[in-house]
Order: sequence, then C-alpha cells, then structure tokens
Amino acid sequence: MNASATPTNASGSDGTPEDPAALVTRLRATFRTGRTRPLDWRVRQLTRLRDLLTEHREDIADALHTDLGKPRAEAYRSEVDFTVREIDHTLDHLEEWLSPQSVDVSGVFGERASAGTQVDPLGVVLVIAPWNYPAQLLLVPVAGALAAGNAVVVKPSEMAPATSAVIARLLPRYLDTDAVAVVEGGVPETTALLAQRFDHIFYTGNGAVGRIVMRAAAEHLTPVTLELGGKSPAFVDTGVDVAEVAKRLARAKFANAGQTCVAPDYVLTTPATARALEAALAEAITEQYGADPAASDAYGRIVNERHFDRLSGLLGSGRLVTGGQTDRATKYIAPTVLGGVKADEPVMREEIFGPVLPIVEVEGLDEAIEFINDRDKPLALYAFTDADVTRERLAAETSSGGLGFGLPMAHLSVPELPFGGVGESGLGAYHGPHSIATFSHRKARLDVPLPA
Ligand code: NAD
Repeated sequence: MNASATPTNASGSDGTPEDPAALVTRLRATFRTGRTRPLDWRVRQLTRLRDLLTEHREDIADALHTDLGKPRAEAYRSEVDFTVREIDHTLDHLEEWLSPQSVDVSGVFGERASAGTQVDPLGVVLVIAPWNYPAQLLLVPVAGALAAGNAVVVKPSEMAPATSAVIARLLPRYLDTDAVAVVEGGVPETTALLAQRFDHIFYTGNGAVGRIVMRAAAEHLTPVTLELGGKSPAFVDTGVDVAEVAKRLARAKFANAGQTCVAPDYVLTTPATARALEAALAEAITEQYGADPAASDAYGRIVNERHFDRLSGLLGSGRLVTGGQTDRATKYIAPTVLGGVKADEPVMREEIFGPVLPIVEVEGLDEAIEFINDRDKPLALYAFTDADVTRERLAAETSSGGLGFGLPMAHLSVPELPFGGVGESGLGAYHGPHSIATFSHRKARLDVPLPA
C-alpha cells in the first residue's frame, strides 16, 4: 500500500491538496505576521502536540502495529512516551533556552554600550521523517521546530502509511493550521517540496537521499540537518560479564526487529570472548522472546518485502549461531546471530538495519580501533569494558555521532545530549536544547548609543 495514493495533505480553503509553492507561501505569510514568535504560542503548540499524543496513544500504537508489527509496549515506550518526555523537558526549560545572553563590551565601546545574542526563529522549516520510528522521528523534530518559533511543513514516511495517515488526520486538529501543515506522499511529493525555499530542512533517513536533500537545499543555500545511519559497532572487552552484556546487546539489537538507526550493527571481540558471547546471546534471545520469537508479541516484523529480501540475503555470512528462520508471508526474520564473520562478507558491507547480529573477531583493542577507523564514522559506538584505559582510548581515538559504554542506545533518551551523526552518519544534531540551536539563529546584537 502506498499512502501517496490517498494523501490527506494540507489543503487550501476549497479542500483540494495545496500546491507546495502556495503552501510554503501561506506558512511564510503566517510567520511574517510574528504569530509564531511569542513564548505563549510555542507553549500552546507543544501542549497541544502533547495532548494529541496522550489522547490518541492507542490510535498511534495501532498504526505502528499495522505498519511494522510494532509491539504495543514498544510503540508506547519508544514512540509516544519518548516524544511526550521530550516535549515535557522542553516545556520545563524553554524560557531559559530562549533567553538572550549578554557579553561585556564596556572595555571597547564604553559603559553605555551593550551587546549580546538573541535567539531568533528561522522561518518555515521542512521535516522529512523515515519509517522505522515513524512517529518519534517525525514529531520530536517538529516539537523542536515549534519550540524554536517556526512554521513547519511535516513530511511523514510513505513507507509507514498507517502512521502517516493518522498523523495527517490528527495534527491539523491540534496544531495551528496556519503555521503547521502535513504533506503525505513519496518521492514525487518530497521532490516537489524540496524545490521550495525553506529556512531549514531536517531530514532523517539514508545517506543516498540525504545527498538529494542537501543538493536541493544548496539551490537556496538552505541549512540542513541530516540524521543518517551506518554500521554502529559494539566492542566487547575480555573479562566482562558476558551474560549481562548479551542481554543488553540483544535488547538493543532486536528491538523493532533491528530496524533502529542506533542499534548495534555488529560486535567486535576477541575469539575467546566470542565463544562465550555466542552462547550467552542465544540464551538472552530465548529469555527475551521465548523459544519461538515468531509467536512472541514482543517481537516486530520487517517493514516490507524489499527489506525482507535484502536481509534474507545477508543470513549466509559467517556461521549461524542462532536464528536464521524466515517467513516471507509475514515478513518475519528470527533474531539471528552470526559467528566468525569476516570483514569482506555481505553482512559487513552495508548497514544491516534488521535483526542480524554478526560477530567479527579481532585480536584486541588496537585491532578493534583500527577496524572502526578504517570505516565510515558510525552514528554510535558502543563498548562493554571494565577498564578505564579502554574507555579513554575509544573516546580519544575514534569518531562517532555518540559513544555509549555499557548500555547501547540509551544515550538518545537523554534530552540534554545532542543526538546526531558525524561524517557519513550525519550532519547536525537535535533533542532538548540542541533542537533549539538547530531550528534557531543566534543573532549577534550590539548597541552603541550616540553621544548624549
Ligand atoms: P524512508 O525510505 O522512509 O525515507 C526517509 C524519507 O525520505 C521519507 O519521508 C521519504 O519520503 C523520503 N524520500 C525517499 N526517497 C526520496 C527521494 N528520492 N527524494 C526525496 N525524498 C525521498 O527511510 P529510510 O531512508 O529507508 O530509513 C532508513 C535509514 O535511515 C537507515 O539508514 C537508518 O540508519 C537511517 N535512520 C537514521 C536515524 C537517525 O536518527 N540518525 C533514524 C532512523 C533512521
């Protein structure tokens, strides 16, 4: 099913879908009235967005189940409640984040001069979201853009059509429709939007489309945030509690059937630890999803046949440790661990983005660091170690969007931490105050009075 066949797009006063140029012009006109700037307006929009999420949490969870077989508890935790928490944190701190800052210029311009910065909204921003966390990855940036006082064009992923439809239906009921509009659809609709002049484009998805977005943005010199993906490694040191590590790895890797941008993509560890970890991972998976994960209501499905076929083609790499079962009719791929995987095998040549965890053996930390640095900078790097020196070496000698010791994926739930990539894994960051920085301009302001 393709939502672009029945879009519930922003519509003009006569109810017909609005032309993208007219839409942007309309939102820009609203922005220019100054309506989106006052704190009250921003707080009202955030509060209403929060109301939408809490009053319709079941509708959203139903849609996520339709699109991704997403378990209800996971839909609440990682999409609805996650977004509500982000909004609450923003509401608690917004005034402070927006406050002007002053700098002392008395030594240069005299006692009567003043200088500082003020936080200005950018104007009309475009938010383009992917399908894997189609509510969270759409609405958290939208919340940031509204908190910063912008008008927003909201573009959900057509690959999660039920979620796209529910958001397109609800958002106009809750938010200021003169300043916020949803445009559903796929490549043609997004291409038409990208031809418009925005004041910022916030894109989450893959690097190939990231390049298309950046090229289109360059035409208007529009700044972009690119939240991309890549292969995030997990280094497991010798001597750690392998059973506990396996539990934490399995929880992070197999949530959303592995379709998470910050999921550990592969494990790097020594041969001796690998043997113990393989057994512990098999146990952790059974503990988490039972003997038959296909029957577990805590385990998701692959988004579509194309990704199912792509992932099925990766199962032949290395040696099968556990899992490997597939069912195309239900797009089920069992939580799978592959041992003794070599760097040149198919599963190591692309971001996996599915429930397949390869273990690559290295001699130790030096080789692990070299392995990581030989590849694109990942969105996240994880390590399990008891040694401070290992932590410090990984922090100093590698580059990644985020660095997590002990608990994979948890860093993105700390709103004060910037969430974003570096190099091939992305450009820019958001969450909490970092969303305000992304969707604002910090304007320099100097006031030197004329002689009295
Ligand atoms: P997707 O296919 O849903 O695409 C994302 C958006 O791009 C959609 O809204 C889609 O309409 C639009 N799009 C697709 N093709 C386009 C084109 N040719 N021109 C213009 N727009 C187009 O999502 P995806 O890319 O399959 O998502 C998976 C990728 O996203 C993975 O690489 C993953 O790691 C990454 N990701 C990153 C983050 C992050 O926060 N950094 C989060 C989730 C996913």
